[in-house]
Amino acid sequence: MVDGVFELGIGYVNMHVVVTDDGVVLVDTGLPRRSATIDRALHGIRRTVGDVRTILLTHHHPDHTGSVADLCRRSGARVVAHRLDAPYVTGEARAVVRHPVVKLVGLLLGTPEPAPVDDLVTTDRATPVPGFTALHTPGHTAGHVSYLLDRAEGVLFAGDAAAGKRGGRIGSTPRMVSADLDEQARSVARLAELDFAHAVFGHGPAVSGRAVERFRQFVAS
Ligand SMILES: [Zn+2]
Ligand SMILES: [Zn+2]
Repeated sequence: MVDGVFELGIGYVNMHVVVTDDGVVLVDTGLPRRSATIDRALHGIRRTVGDVRTILLTHHHPDHTGSVADLCRRSGARVVAHRLDAPYVTGEARAVVRHPVVKLVGLLLGTPEPAPVDDLVTTDRATPVPGFTALHTPGHTAGHVSYLLDRAEGVLFAGDAAAGKRGGRIGSTPRMVSADLDEQARSVARLAELDFAHAVFGHGPAVSGRAVERFRQFVAS
């Protein structure tokens, strides 16, 4: 993506690896039972799972938290999530899935093993790792967080607040997996008021160069 920021596609979902002065930061961890894929990717950039210091979660959905427990055990990494989504990661709460397609996908993928959350994001614009700003962007889930990295004129990790579409456009994630579409739209509008050159997503291709303009176009449409 940009210097030290790598995108790893695991099935239909992206996760991101960021090399920082404080070790490797993962933004989300992809589908369940795929940590061998993450190991290979880390090996590809001459790192190992032991170099992972922090796992920043955008939200609790199983396609984003699949390997958290395993990665934590093997790396001792600190896990960061918003306080409203954390109970679903730790297993204290169980998400109620009503949509039959989402239910079926969940059964096929498997349920992530419960994992500890070490640091709760409780305020907007918290700094869970130097250089990263946590932005509370509710809607897709109540505790959805996007992360803005202060590097290369700004890299936004949008999670599922929005999705990358063909031709560098920005779109929505499927309606059926959003908790609150109106709130999600307000969150995207807030992101469009920021300034960042690059954006990466849980689903769909990244946007490089004046990415915030694409967000503004999406909001205007
Ligand atoms: Zn999601
Ligand atoms: Zn997703």
